[in-house]
Amino acid sequence: MNILFAAAEAAPFVKIGGLGDVAGTLPRYLKDRGHDIRIVLPRYGAIDRERFGLSAMPGPLGVPMGSSGTLWCEVLEGRPPGTDIPVYFLERRDLFDRPGVYDDPSGKGYGDNAFRFLFLSRGALETARRLSFPPGVIHVHDWHTAAVPLYLDALYRRDPLLERSATVLTIHNLEHQGIFPRELMDVLGTGRHYFHTGDLEFYNEVNLLKSGIIHGDVVSTVSPTYAREMTTPEFGCRLDGVLRTYAPDLTGILNGVDYGEWNPEKDPWISQPYGSDDLSGKGKNKADLQTALGLPVAEGIPVVGMVTRLVHQKGMDVVASVIHRLLDRGIQLVLLGSGESWAHDFFSAVASDRPDRFACRLGYDPVLAHRIIAGSDLFLMPSRFEPCGLTQMFALRYGTLPVVRAAGGLNDTVENFDGATGAGTGFKFYDLTGDAVVNTLSWALSVFRDSPETVKALRKRAMSRRFSWEDTAGQYERLYHRAAKKRET
Ligand code: ADP
Repeated sequence: MNILFAAAEAAPFVKIGGLGDVAGTLPRYLKDRGHDIRIVLPRYGAIDRERFGLSAMPGPLGVPMGSSGTLWCEVLEGRPPGTDIPVYFLERRDLFDRPGVYDDPSGKGYGDNAFRFLFLSRGALETARRLSFPPGVIHVHDWHTAAVPLYLDALYRRDPLLERSATVLTIHNLEHQGIFPRELMDVLGTGRHYFHTGDLEFYNEVNLLKSGIIHGDVVSTVSPTYAREMTTPEFGCRLDGVLRTYAPDLTGILNGVDYGEWNPEKDPWISQPYGSDDLSGKGKNKADLQTALGLPVAEGIPVVGMVTRLVHQKGMDVVASVIHRLLDRGIQLVLLGSGESWAHDFFSAVASDRPDRFACRLGYDPVLAHRIIAGSDLFLMPSRFEPCGLTQMFALRYGTLPVVRAAGGLNDTVENFDGATGAGTGFKFYDLTGDAVVNTLSWALSVFRDSPETVKALRKRAMSRRFSWEDTAGQYERLYHRAAKKRET
C-alpha cells in the first residue's frame, strides 16, 4: 500500500514528545512489511541539511493558503539514517527556521502556529501531487495535520491522484486541539460553509482536531483504555460527544518499545547489566544510584523512582500534596524531571529538607533516566491521564514494578498484583487522590517486606512482557485496510 505520513515531528529529525517517537519508528516497521511509505515534515531550523544529507528537489512547490494566496517553498528530500524511507521537508524559513518547534524560548506557542501547520497539511497534499504519489492512506497525527482530511473532502476529491485516498487520524494527546479564532477560515480556503457545529465550529472558534475527527475515515489513539476514556466527560476535553458521534469505532493501538535501547542485559548506561534469571545485578545498580544521588546506601530501603515531565497531567500536584507521608513510609524517593516552575521550586525544597529520603534532579537526562529505571525497586506514575505512556513499559522490562493510576496506557500495560494468586506485574489504583497514592504504595511496600519470593516472581513476569513495534505496525496495517475499505464504499 502507498502510505503518506504527515506529522509535525518525526525522530531522529525532530522529537519533542511521543508523537516524534511514533512518526519516527512506525514507518520503519511498515516499510519492513512491504509498504511504500513516505513522510512529509517541516524543515525546522534545527534539522541540519548537511548532517542528514538533505537535497533539494527541482522546482518550487506552490501551496495555496486561502486568502494569503499561494506560498512557494522548496522541498528537500532525505532519508532517516539506515532506512530507505523518503522524507520530504517543506522549506520556508519564515515559518520554520526558529529556535523552537511549537513554542518560543519562553514556552509560549508561536502566534502563527495555525498558519504554520495548515501550511504543512496542505503542503503534504501538494507534495503527493508533485511526486505523482497516489496514497492509499494518508496518516495524520494530532491537530497539526488534522486539517488534511477536510482539505481532501473539500478540495481534492476530483483530483485523480487523491480522489480515493483514505485518511487515518491518530490522536496522541486530546488536550491539544488546535483551537483558533474563526478568521482562520479565510486562510483554510475551503469556504465559510464548513464553519458550523457539525464541522469545524467549536464554541464559536475553529477546532482543527474536531475537523479531523469528523472528516477522517478512521480515528485512532495510542491505547485501548484511552480510546474508551476519551468518550467520557472526565477525559474527553469537551470533544467526548464529537468522538461518540463521529468516531464510534475509535481504536486504541499501544505504541511499541525500542528494546534495542531499553534492555537491562545490554544497557551501556547502567553499572551492572542483568537479566531475569539473575537479579543480583539489579541490587548493584540500586547501590550505585543511591551513591550517585547522595542517598544512604542500604539494600533494605525500597527505592521508588520517577522520571517524568513535572506537569499537572502527570499528577505531580498530587505527589506534592502527600510527599511527606510517602517519605515517612521508610522509602527513598528519586525524581528526575522538568516542567512547571512551581514543581521545580517545591521538589528542590523538599530535597534539601530531607536529603536522606528524597533526591531530585531537575532537567532532561537520558542517562540518569536509564539508571533510575534500572536501580529502583518501584516506579511511580500517578497520571491524571496517560494516552499511552512509555516509561512504565521501560520499568517493566527492568523488573522495576510500576505503581500506577489505572488510566489510559498505564491500565493496558500493567497487570494488577493479585495477592490470592500471586499474578500481576505491578500495583494499580483508580482514583487520583493523595490517599490512593499513599495506600497503594504502602500495599506494594508490604509485599516487599513480607514476601521477597513474590516480588521476585513479579519482577520476572514484568521483565518477560513485550510491547513490540512489529505488533503495533501489524495493528496499524489492519487500520489502514479498514480505512481504505470505508473509502471504497
Ligand atoms: P510523555 O510523552 O507524556 O512525556 P511518556 O512516558 O510517553 O510520557 O514518555 C516520556 C519519555 O521521555 C520517556 O522516554 C522518558 O524516559 C523520557 N523522559 C521524560 N522526562 C525525562 C527526563 N527528565 N530526563 C530524561 N528522560 C525523560
